[in-house]
Amino acid sequence: LLLAYDPARRLARLQINLERAVVNARMIYEILDEEPTQGDQPDAVAIEVRGGEIAFRNVGFGYGEGEIVLDGVSFTAEAGKTTAIVGPSGAGKSTLISLVPRFHDPVTGQVLIDGTDIASVTKSSLRQQIAYVSQQPWLFEGSIRENLRYARPEATDAAIEEAAKLANAHEFILAQPQGYDTMLGENGVNLSGGQRQRISIARALVRNAPILLLDEATSALDNESEAAVQKALERAMQNRTVLVIAHRLSTIARADRIVVMQAGQVVEVGSHADLSANRDGLYARLQAYSEAGSDTAPAESGL
Ligand code: ADP
Ligand code: MG
Repeated sequence: LLLAYDPARRLARLQINLERAVVNARMIYEILDEEPTQGDQPDAVAIEVRGGEIAFRNVGFGYGEGEIVLDGVSFTAEAGKTTAIVGPSGAGKSTLISLVPRFHDPVTGQVLIDGTDIASVTKSSLRQQIAYVSQQPWLFEGSIRENLRYARPEATDAAIEEAAKLANAHEFILAQPQGYDTMLGENGVNLSGGQRQRISIARALVRNAPILLLDEATSALDNESEAAVQKALERAMQNRTVLVIAHRLSTIARADRIVVMQAGQVVEVGSHADLSANRDGLYARLQAYSEAGSDTAPAESGL
């Protein structure tokens, strides 16, 4: 695990240098692994994950005292299925998924994985079961290989290359001056937005966890990158419990279930077909708004 510590320190330094690359250190669970016992209950045990069902039971949360960001959120993300979370900006989508790796704990209610309240398990065991792909991919100063291995220090080179292939990253990595040993960051190469996203997805595949949390990027990619990223995501989502904050209509329509949030509350739950049929519902209205624009909706629409 030593490998994981050194890059974390470099990452912290790089955060100052490369603001664009490293957006929200709080959301980078690997860093928090450095203090894995903080906040564990004295009798906390390692979580046992089977299917990876995630249930939110009447969850309330606020960052400050008296502030309500999540209000009575209840729904279940079924094991092995994809649940999309949509809704306007500020609805509480990112906050909600941040409760799963316990970046924050609910003020009221519970989050359960396979029926176990995650407040009762060790954070380190919990986070081992979770891969997280953030909205803006973060990379640290180091080789591409190190960036990928960060997700699982014991991963073999073969496993890393396999993940990169699935994420449509292998070919552009080989095209770099030193292939997988090419350095990224200040004194290394710069990658395009689509390439960075594919490395981030490959990293999630290296982690090979049963639960995948995905904050879909809204940034416009060129068509080629978009297709490559989409394909990579589809592969990463297979056979996992996926909670995706979805903006692309393709992701939303393909989800097994869609949870629509507004102002910290769940206002609709259903399939794309169900929700589209409810003309007065928020989902149908958000969709109409997004279709009126381009194929990638403005971030504020939440679709
Ligand atoms: P969404 O992802 O749906 O856009 P967020 O979960 O990011 O919504 O934000 C929900 C609310 O919580 C917003 O009012 C936002 O300003 C607030 N918020 C988000 N993150 C923090 C934070 N780290 N500290 C304080 N307030 C926050
Ligand atoms: Mg968000």
